[in-house]
Amino acid sequence: MTNMPILNDVFKAAVSIKGLIRESPLIESEELKNFSGAEGVMLKLESLQNTGAFKVRGASNKILNLSTEEKNRGVITFSTGNHGKAVSYVSARSGINSVVCLSENVTAYRAEMIRSLGAEVVVYGKSQDEAENRYYELIEERGLIPVVPFDDPAIISGQGTIALEMLRKRPDLDVLLVPLSGGGLLSGIAMAAKSINPSIHVVGVSVERSPVMLKSLEAGKPVPLEEKFTLADSLLGGIGKENYYTLNMIEKYVDEHIVVNEDEIEKGMFFAFDKHSLIIEGGAAVGIAAVLADKIDLKGKFAGLVLTGSTIDQKKYIEVLNKHSK
Ligand SMILES: *Cc1c(COP(=O)(O)O)cnc(C)c1O
Repeated sequence: MTNMPILNDVFKAAVSIKGLIRESPLIESEELKNFSGAEGVMLKLESLQNTGAFKVRGASNKILNLSTEEKNRGVITFSTGNHGKAVSYVSARSGINSVVCLSENVTAYRAEMIRSLGAEVVVYGKSQDEAENRYYELIEERGLIPVVPFDDPAIISGQGTIALEMLRKRPDLDVLLVPLSGGGLLSGIAMAAKSINPSIHVVGVSVERSPVMLKSLEAGKPVPLEEKFTLADSLLGGIGKENYYTLNMIEKYVDEHIVVNEDEIEKGMFFAFDKHSLIIEGGAAVGIAAVLADKIDLKGKFAGLVLTGSTIDQKKYIEVLNKHSK
């Protein structure tokens, strides 16, 4: 275990990943400003990031900083979603072999999405746990280097580069709303933002169906939680049986936590489409959801919301639009 990442690691990450990411737009939301009485609300559009989510930042920082010997061995992960896409994309762009383990339950569409970016997809077992077991076997059998989705200093520092971009453009932001699952994103952003401006107020937004980090903060250790269906499927999953970084960092740097439900998430997604012509996935809509549900007081504040991704099943997305269209 290495040390907790610090601001300097985030600056270094920004240099490392420059060639594989884009600086995503930071746009003003007049509508959310008027709704909340804020002085301003900015939306950071990681939904338009390469591969459709911010995870390419952490994955690039991890993979590009491996030794030549490690790169030659290749990398492996078992994420079904945006992290799997990011590992596949970064590896292919860098001439490194990658393996992504998925269970038979993962839709053919998801598997193909990851395969088409360049990874070797290994489909194994009837559950995510069985796919994870195969992942450990393959690390042993083939000497592959594991790239975990959040609990790793290089991943956390990579995600933290979002805060650098936001604060460089708008140094006067005084509240940040960030989706929270395993906490790599929130750890990196909170640590970087607080190191630059200690008085900035950092808020994590979790989903009611799977608030694993919140329960773990309460318990003071990682707790397993039953996974239920949520529209915010990118926010599902535990924080690891052993958690080395994100639980401590979130405890240290985050000021406030909000929980949103399925209906609020739908309204957030619809709002992004309706008012800003933006397609965002459920996990990316939780910040807007929190504002629209009046779960945070932004009066007189200048807020930044991170819209994290746009990976969503087309039929599910259209259902949400249909349900809320007038
Ligand atoms: C992974 C992900 C998150 C949550 O990030 P963590 O580092 O796991 O907290 C939020 N939104 C999207 C779209 C994601 O893919």
